[in-house]
Parts: sequence; C-alpha cells; structure tokens
Amino acid sequence: MKKAYRFSIGGICFLTILLAFFVSLSGQSSINRLVITGFKVSPPGDREHSPRLPGDEPTKTTGREAEQELAFTLVVNKKHHLTAEYIPPDLTVPKVPFSFTEDLPKKRMRKEAAEALEELFDAARREGIELVGVSAYRSYERQAEIFAYNARQRGEEVANQVSARPGESEHQTGLAIDVSCASVKYQLIEEFGETKEGKWLADHAAEYGFIIRYPKGKEEITGYQYEPWHLRYVGRQAAQRIKEEGITLEEYVGFK
Ligand SMILES: [Zn+2]
Repeated sequence: MKKAYRFSIGGICFLTILLAFFVSLSGQSSINRLVITGFKVSPPGDREHSPRLPGDEPTKTTGREAEQELAFTLVVNKKHHLTAEYIPPDLTVPKVPFSFTEDLPKKRMRKEAAEALEELFDAARREGIELVGVSAYRSYERQAEIFAYNARQRGEEVANQVSARPGESEHQTGLAIDVSCASVKYQLIEEFGETKEGKWLADHAAEYGFIIRYPKGKEEITGYQYEPWHLRYVGRQAAQRIKEEGITLEEYVGFK
C-alpha cells in the first residue's frame, strides 16, 4: 500500500517535470516567432540605456501591452500613449546625412532601425536619390517642451492640433524618422511626396522594413494627416505586408 502511494507520488512528480518541459518549449518557440518579426530579448541586466530616476516605478502593463512595447510593431498614437519612463533601448546615430550638423538626440534611432535606415539611404543613393534625415528620436520631455511652447504661443487647442501631447508621439519609440530632400529645402511638407525622392521612398521603404506611417485616406485610423516624410520601422515582414495590403500599422496589429 505504502509502495503504491510512493509510486503515485513519483508518477505525479514525473508528469509535472514533463509538463514544465513542454511549457518551456512552447515559450521558447513563441520567443523565436517574435525574433523573426524583429523582436530581440535583452538580458535582464542590460538596462543601462533605459535609466530610471530613483523612486520611479516601472510602468504597469498588461501582457499584450508588454509584448507590444518590446516589439517593433509597437503602436503609439493618440489613443495608445507611452509613459514618461519609456526610453527605448539601444539608441544610436545612423550614419546618414542629416539636415543639421549638431549632435542632437533627434539624430538617434534604435540600433536595428538605424542599420535598416543606412541600407535604405545607401540603396537610394545608388539610384541617384539623395535622402536626408530631419528628425528621429524625441524624448517625452522634449515632446512636453514642444507642446508647452505651442500652447504658450497659440493656445492649448491649436497646440493640440499642431503637436502631439507628451507620450503620443511615435518619435519616442526610436523607430520613426522624418526625412526630406534638397528640392523642398528639407521641409516636412506634403509636396515631398511628389518629389522623385518621396516617390522612390514610397516604392522602396518596405524592402528595408519601413512604412509611410500616415498614408493618404487613412486619417480616421491613424489620427494624422498624410505625412509622406514620416517613416516608421516595423521590420521587413510587417512592412511588406502593410504595403501589399494597403493597410496601416493599427490595422496590421488589429487595433481599431
Ligand atoms: Zn514624424
């Protein structure tokens, strides 16, 4: 009787270990899937690029939000904000021409996006297309300064139309960059979309993992007017599907 009892305990332990093994295997495969779409897991100690002030609590997110936050398909818009604490990891300066020479934070992008941008600009140059970076990373604090400046100058209502509220700008992800060209004097204006540089970009950005984030006719979904200059890195696979299907990032990830 005692022996049978021991045997059944042993059996339960064995089954538990077996179950844990399969659970860990399935967890591993979901990480692999995310790696394919551009997700990279940082070791737990690798936090030096994401400093937190003393007393700051980590942002509480649901499982889905946490996954989104780490993936390159992270959606940031007027409905889905980033917190003041969110500073992207691995910010670096892409080796591409910019419309200014100072070493400002707005030159920075996340490493994978920066490398993809270099490839995109190199490919353009080989076809005689000279693209120029204008503005990439924008911190929460910088967004707050810009919004406050516009509100002082023109009132809060106008400020809300011409600038994002802090946390609402996709530039905080380190995955977005505004680009322009000499023929429109490096301005961020709709005419850029009609230049040979703007047209080349719309045709080829997806090959390098970028999308024109705010296309014409999708204002209701994105919350933004057409911006032919605003590139967003989402990874090659996502970019190509978004382009082929003529959808937005919101539609791609299933947000309304
Ligand atoms: Zn932009």
